[in-house]
Amino acid sequence: MRIAVCPGSFDPVTNGHLDIFERASNMYDLLIVAVFHNPNKKPLFTMEERVELLTRSTQHIPNIKIDSFSGLLNDYVRQQNTNIIVRGLRALSDFEYEFQRALLIKKIDPVIETVFMMTSSEYSFLSSSGIKELARFGGKIKGLVPECVEARIKERMRISEY
Ligand code: ADP
Repeated sequence: MRIAVCPGSFDPVTNGHLDIFERASNMYDLLIVAVFHNPNKKPLFTMEERVELLTRSTQHIPNIKIDSFSGLLNDYVRQQNTNIIVRGLRALSDFEYEFQRALLIKKIDPVIETVFMMTSSEYSFLSSSGIKELARFGGKIKGLVPECVEARIKERMRISEY
């Protein structure tokens, strides 16, 4: 069985992430989307909320599993009985970071392969941080994120105004 792990913060999941999940799920028997704690980012949503929003947004993909983890990605990937990591790539600016990450992972564990998927052109501008910024200043996020995410962000932004 071909298994791949797609790790990320997903704070929150966007239609750009979903596009990568849909395409990657056609390439593997099982795609494990794993929410991880990125110490460099202060999240808007808790791990549990991110898992919930991902689960609700990916109901239409039969061979997907949503999970979360903390710790070393290499260990997690091996625990899932695979050696494949899938990451999405947008602009050149992503490349620098992803390149370093992939090499570091390979240095620790040479068996692990990071596979990159190019973003679809309509999502190349889309990022979780961009969505949060847009929402904070009252911009429209409809069509950029799944509906459950749109509703949750609006709810959260209203609460944080007080
Ligand atoms: P991280 O904190 O690990 O960067 P993100 O949730 O921001 O996690 O992103 C997870 C993965 O999805 C990364 O590989 C990122 O490059 C990719 N990604 C994010 N937005 C898009 C998009 N619009 N199109 C394609 N890939 C994307």
